[in-house]
Amino acid sequence: MGFNIAIDGPAGAGKSTIAKRAAKELGFLYVDTGAMYRAMALYFLQNQVDIREEAAVAGACEDIKVTIEHRDGEQQILLNHKNVTGLIRTEEVGNTASVTSAYPVVRRKLLDLQRSLAKKENVIMDGRDIGTCVLPDAPLKIYLTASVETRGERRYRELTEKGVACSLEEICQDIKERDERDMNREIAPLKQAEDAVLVDSSHMTIGEVTDTIVALAKERLTA
Ligand code: C5P
Repeated sequence: MGFNIAIDGPAGAGKSTIAKRAAKELGFLYVDTGAMYRAMALYFLQNQVDIREEAAVAGACEDIKVTIEHRDGEQQILLNHKNVTGLIRTEEVGNTASVTSAYPVVRRKLLDLQRSLAKKENVIMDGRDIGTCVLPDAPLKIYLTASVETRGERRYRELTEKGVACSLEEICQDIKERDERDMNREIAPLKQAEDAVLVDSSHMTIGEVTDTIVALAKERLTA
């Protein structure tokens, strides 16, 4: 087992940006599990699977293979051997992933892949259930959060910078709905693991959050 760092938290808390930076500083592999759920969601969308029907989702799962590769330290996500990294970052895919990730059949499919990656090397893995389900023995767990307003504003800025027209109000509403679904589903809901360190990034810069996590990792690595 590698030395693994689990980072969980709600949508838009900055998990991936921070995990990527911390991984670089520590020389760890960054694993984005949200991208795996998004790749599956992309398949359901592309193949017009009725995501309200669990049986339809379960049937489609049999035709899906999700794998990841790392290229220059960047995670690439492959759906049935096709690189879909550039196709999964839309609001539609994110919202679909948040619905379909509640199905046990979808989660089961990704659990082995996530655990086998963590077994092979030192990883920083981010998601919703990493500290509670995927890697319950991780020596460092972080629960990274921020207020809905802060998360909404960050997402709004990100999209506007990309030239995507959007409304702050709708984004905040989307975030609230996603939190609600992720925190209240029956299987592997988003929650802070008992032994996780809570980091609220509402009033912190990316650099400050990264430094906090890197310092904690170094402390535990030498303990
Ligand atoms: O983090 P990201 O926004 O990419 O995740 C998309 C969706 O995938 C989340 O809203 C959540 O429902 C699901 N997810 C999950 N468990 C994880 C990672 C993501 O259920 N470990």
